Amino acid sequence: MTAVPEYFGSLVFDDRQMKARLSNEVYNSLKKTIDEGSRLDPSVASAVAQAMKDWAVSLGATHFTHWFQPLTGITAEKHDSFIAPAPDGGIIMEFSGKELIKGEPDASSFPSGGLRATFEARGYTAWDPTSYAFIKDKTLCIPTAFCSYSGEALDKKTPLLRSMEALNRQALRILRLFGADGVKCVRSSVGPEQEYFLVDKQLYLRRPDLIYTGRTLFGAKPPKGQEMSDHYFGVIRPRVQAYMKELNEELWKLGILAKTEHNEVAPAQHELAPIFTTTNIAADHNQLTMEIMQKLAEKHGLVCLLHEKPFAGVNGSGRHNNWSIATDTGVNLLSPGDTPHENAQFLLFLCAVIQAVDEYQALLRCAVATAGNDHRLGANEAPPAVVSIFLGDELTAILDSIENGTPYSSAEKSSMKLGVHVLPRFQRDTTDRNRTSPFAFTGNKFEFRMLGSSNSISCANIMLNAAVADVLEKYADELEGSSDFDASLHELIKRSISEHKRIIFNGNGYDDAWIKEATEVRGLLNLRSTADAMPALLEEKNRSMLMHHRIFSESEIRSRYEIMLDNYCKTIVIEARTMSDMASRDILPAIEAYAADLAAAVSAKQSIMPDLPCTYEKSRIRKLSMLVDQIDDAVRVLEDALISLGLVSDVTTQANMIRDEILPDMNLLRAPVDEAETLTAAKYWPFPTYGELLFGV
Ligand code: ADP
Ligand code: MG
Repeated sequence: MTAVPEYFGSLVFDDRQMKARLSNEVYNSLKKTIDEGSRLDPSVASAVAQAMKDWAVSLGATHFTHWFQPLTGITAEKHDSFIAPAPDGGIIMEFSGKELIKGEPDASSFPSGGLRATFEARGYTAWDPTSYAFIKDKTLCIPTAFCSYSGEALDKKTPLLRSMEALNRQALRILRLFGADGVKCVRSSVGPEQEYFLVDKQLYLRRPDLIYTGRTLFGAKPPKGQEMSDHYFGVIRPRVQAYMKELNEELWKLGILAKTEHNEVAPAQHELAPIFTTTNIAADHNQLTMEIMQKLAEKHGLVCLLHEKPFAGVNGSGRHNNWSIATDTGVNLLSPGDTPHENAQFLLFLCAVIQAVDEYQALLRCAVATAGNDHRLGANEAPPAVVSIFLGDELTAILDSIENGTPYSSAEKSSMKLGVHVLPRFQRDTTDRNRTSPFAFTGNKFEFRMLGSSNSISCANIMLNAAVADVLEKYADELEGSSDFDASLHELIKRSISEHKRIIFNGNGYDDAWIKEATEVRGLLNLRSTADAMPALLEEKNRSMLMHHRIFSESEIRSRYEIMLDNYCKTIVIEARTMSDMASRDILPAIEAYAADLAAAVSAKQSIMPDLPCTYEKSRIRKLSMLVDQIDDAVRVLEDALISLGLVSDVTTQANMIRDEILPDMNLLRAPVDEAETLTAAKYWPFPTYGELLFGV
């Protein structure tokens, strides 16, 4: 086996390949585009395409594709081969600069939320040179953005890049005020920690709910769940270890910095964390990681479940989005510094994030809203649906002393003044292990913990970047016009703390008392479901902010609203149909068969001993018959609700019906089925149990 440094990035056209394969002139020009976002010269594109193709062909690639991220949440690719006919009847391998820069997939079937009528099917894809091209399955994949002909974004990458640009613009203005003239660009970085479940493939194939919906829709609680906490960080079983080993190797070849792996809280649950990188690259890498996780599982006789809640009663899967902003000169703007000057700058950026999260809490909630994630948020295992920030006791005390103009510690004589005081050296709070906070400061970055495990990380980071850019813009406007920078800065920070400290909460987010305080005393939002959250996207304040920073156009916002709610509705309708189908065609007949056999046993026994009471059989039959009737009723109620839903065309009304009727009806069907499972002899039950699925690997 070769050493990791030798094969790391071997399937990536990275800086090493560019340096080796491009002329100095072409390399420098491309590098300028990558580092500073300058326009790419067409002649440079041709040279790059040629080198990329030669490199890919030397590694056995035969095709290329523009790899993009439509609004379905997964990635899309359409392969074209490199071949072109040669006059002698043979072929040559060809790839032009034009093909590198722009593609025209016939993409009429991707959701556009009305942005693009199907008759004007064509959208185009445009190369994102800041994310390296790579080889996957003998195909050269070129990361691209996907737009309609009129220039509207049909994907998640375009607005993500726009949000990074907005953040860059505004952060640079702030840095200029602090005299940081050498900084050319500011970028947000992300390290997404990914949770997932592994189940045995053979068992999976016997569960229509897993196949159609990615989660179990029925299943009685197994005798053992996660109560012993013996899985978390436990010894990794050999089959899982073999999977993780190969997963790391595949990711490393693609230049993905897979770093940490461990068992998670629920049985069969695991986590993979990469080292952080620039946000758009992190988003590309996370998509690739999810794809490879699923593909590779098959090879090991496993299935990787990325759903947020594959099993009721045990923890679901989320994703911690570790987020920070840094300059191209390597300064992390969320890291406290050593001098008063650096610390004033740190506090300004810190306050900008606090203010952004407070002002745009609804947008952050929207960005993580999906049918799957609704099962986690606020359900006593993941952060609540209320957005709040954990800062830790020390930093909170520092902000308090600035706000109140009081000394920071009893040892100090004077009150904290920015521009004079070095921040007292504060410890990285050990309490940052408080996993109940949706948005936690962890020393030099924030950890946004509300993301679901299956969704693209782009949405959350678009909103986060945009919100922070917006606050930085207001700060820059105010400070640029000031004649006394230090005094204005102090005033601004003080005011921001006082106006937005309601979002700071260092206590236990799982506590019901917090939800009461958050909503009733502090006036924070508690948007419990996707149907509750999404309308916030259309609110004037949020829309105008996103449009002002050119993250989305008006119609792009509309289209996203439609697509996200449509996706929510379709997901749950498929779940409801699957439940109805499983109950009618498998579960009811299985219970009936068992009850019939019990009844036959009663007859057989009583034919030889007529006075036998057969109490056990009879009470079981009675109980099961009652459950069968309940199940049958519940199926009918659900079916009727689905029919009513089908008559509604407006997606907002549909989503509300789903929340208010379909989901409660699904719960009413599940309850008697799960009870019947515990009363039915194992060999009659048509599906593998929770116990088998959770402990079967
Ligand atoms: P913690 O133990 O506080 O969770 P880790 O060092 O384990 O911190 O990092 C967790 C994740 O945060 C990793 O994916 C890591 O790469 C990422 N991370 C660290 N620094 C940054 C940063 N400046 N920006 C974004 N992500 C970061
Ligand atoms: Mg962490």
